[in-house]
Amino acid sequence: MRVPLLAGNWKMYKTVGEAVELVEALLAGLGTLSDREVLVCPPYTALDRIGALLSEKPIGLGAQDVFYEAEGAYTGAIAPQMLRDVGCTYAIVGHSERRQYFGDTDALVNRKLHAALANDLRPIMCVGESKPQRDSGQAESIVVAQVRAGLANVTVAQMQSVVIAYEPIWAIGTGDTATPDDAQAMHAAIRKTLTDLFGVETASSVRIQYGGSVKPDNVDELMSQPDIDGALVGGASLKADSFLRIVHFQ
Ligand code: PEP
Repeated sequence: MRVPLLAGNWKMYKTVGEAVELVEALLAGLGTLSDREVLVCPPYTALDRIGALLSEKPIGLGAQDVFYEAEGAYTGAIAPQMLRDVGCTYAIVGHSERRQYFGDTDALVNRKLHAALANDLRPIMCVGESKPQRDSGQAESIVVAQVRAGLANVTVAQMQSVVIAYEPIWAIGTGDTATPDDAQAMHAAIRKTLTDLFGVETASSVRIQYGGSVKPDNVDELMSQPDIDGALVGGASLKADSFLRIVHFQ
């Protein structure tokens, strides 16, 4: 019932030429996939070119962030309408690197999420705990609080377009992955929070991705967990062969 979403977050990697090369290799190796959805999130500079290449193709286009205003004197920011204009249908909000290096708070994440929804962009809202938070037994309460704050004032109807990505910070780019059992336990806690907020029917239809050093050799086990509905992939999405193996999880 939940179509798995495999998304590549390219972060601050790839010139336009390199991005084109990667997307061409992905398109060549993808094959026909009717039971899963594939998405790439290139840097802003490549979105226009990649958007044109992906038109009518089975790979979607997403942005790595989005600002909450439609236009104005906001140097360096990108409006949701601008992302729609180049073919984006998704936008990541609240990635831990945005929270850590750019000061994105839960309140700001919530504003960005609403701006995305208001402009037909599906938000992928990232949540996750740090290593000290996990070691001190606070992981679940931190993640649940992020989910509640990030989804403030979202309606049941809007939730149909929202994707949550659970990304433990200590697992991002480190090669340390959450065990499938630990990831499943957190996904179940997130889904329980969604049930409290939106009811069981909505909660059971929302996709919750896992992110944090997803690789070809751990994707199958992670994806076999009942509440893991996809992956948000950083490093392993930068090469066609590894991302294609992830996309073709069994
Ligand atoms: C990410 O960028 O969201 C991520 C999970 O990165 P990595 O797969 O490299 O850990």
